[in-house]
Amino acid sequence: MTDIMTPEQRHRCMAAIRGKDTKPEIIVRKYLFSRGLRYRVNVKKLPGSPDIVLKKYGVVIFIDGCFWHGHKGCKHYRLPSTNVDFWKAKISRNIARDYVNNVDLNLAGWKVIRIWECEIKTKAKREETLQTLYTQITSNQHIQKTKRIKKQKSRTYDDYPDDFNIAAEPDVDWYGE
Ligand SMILES: [Zn+2]
Repeated sequence: MTDIMTPEQRHRCMAAIRGKDTKPEIIVRKYLFSRGLRYRVNVKKLPGSPDIVLKKYGVVIFIDGCFWHGHKGCKHYRLPSTNVDFWKAKISRNIARDYVNNVDLNLAGWKVIRIWECEIKTKAKREETLQTLYTQITSNQHIQKTKRIKKQKSRTYDDYPDDFNIAAEPDVDWYGE
């Protein structure tokens, strides 16, 4: 694996494997804390293990790495030049899984907010992103009593909302080709 990744990609890969306390997450947490919000982190009981969970507001937050979650059109989403099919398949699966997790969380009463890492990394964008995030959290008007989430095998097609429109193979256009 070593020769197909740039140093930056390798760094991200290792951060993803460690799976916690990557820098953008810390920035978001610190900001929310400074605004008086309290939360739990890396909640494994919920689908996709959300990075931040604000139970009081019925909100979960994911900070998605642009490479691993396939940020369309983002300069941080560049596939390595070798093993392209492998990476496409892998990232397609990640995108599909993110979508299913969103649906499952919504069905259980959670509002899901996803932030791209690139929206936090640059200072100029960061302020705006964080302020918008704060507003999105505190203005969540649809707080429902969140339900316990059933194991995936007990889910039937009828559980999905009518606008559930993802196919088994996500749109290849997501790769900017
Ligand atoms: Zn991005």
